Amino acid sequence: MNLRKLILTNNACFKAGKTIIPKGIMVHSTGANNPWLKRYVGPDDGFLGKNQYNNHWNQEKPGGRQVCVHAFIGKLADGTIATYQTLPWNHRGWHAGGKANDTHIGFEICEDGLSDSTYFNKVYREAVEFCVYLCKLYGFTEKNIICHSEGYKLGIASNHADVMHWFPKHGKSMDTFRAEVKKALTPINPYKIYTVVKGDSLWKIAKEKLGNGERYTEIKALNGLTSNIIYAGQKLKIPN
Ligand SMILES: [Zn+2]
Repeated sequence: MNLRKLILTNNACFKAGKTIIPKGIMVHSTGANNPWLKRYVGPDDGFLGKNQYNNHWNQEKPGGRQVCVHAFIGKLADGTIATYQTLPWNHRGWHAGGKANDTHIGFEICEDGLSDSTYFNKVYREAVEFCVYLCKLYGFTEKNIICHSEGYKLGIASNHADVMHWFPKHGKSMDTFRAEVKKALTPINPYKIYTVVKGDSLWKIAKEKLGNGERYTEIKALNGLTSNIIYAGQKLKIPN
């Protein structure tokens, strides 16, 4: 993930200054063929490139609309993909057209013509990584992630099709998206924690937890122990 920051301080949404306790993430896509971040994020910071029409969202009402999101994913001037944070994460955004504004961090993926799988795969991957980052930050799971059209079905967002008019064209869906976030959130080499009680020895714990007392050396190594001495109340990592 290439996370950068340019808060849209001129946007009326930012100026409204309302905060939320984030409970989830809403995925949007822009609905216009323009993959360049400079269309929405400005002014140019040296990476975005210049928006010659100056119609980015860092203004009171972009295109006359009351709209603002927490982040955009799209192309920098050099063609590489980045995520731009455009509101503080706990700021109340104007992205859902419904109650989800009170609970959800909302971000837009900049659409292109919807048929370029190379671009799609890059922004899809970036969006997965971005959601993993937010999940870790707020203790969310993949279940806390929905797209705009799912929000409509739940009665907390306006009637928009994003992102399900796009993802399926490239063999993806919000279910595959959530599955990939879940996978990234699952530790590769998980272990259990065991709290030592009186009378325990490394051998005894290895015999009970790993089925073989001789495997006490694995517990020693995993916990970086230099001796066999353990004490009641000590927390030990036990291999799975
Ligand atoms: Zn949307």
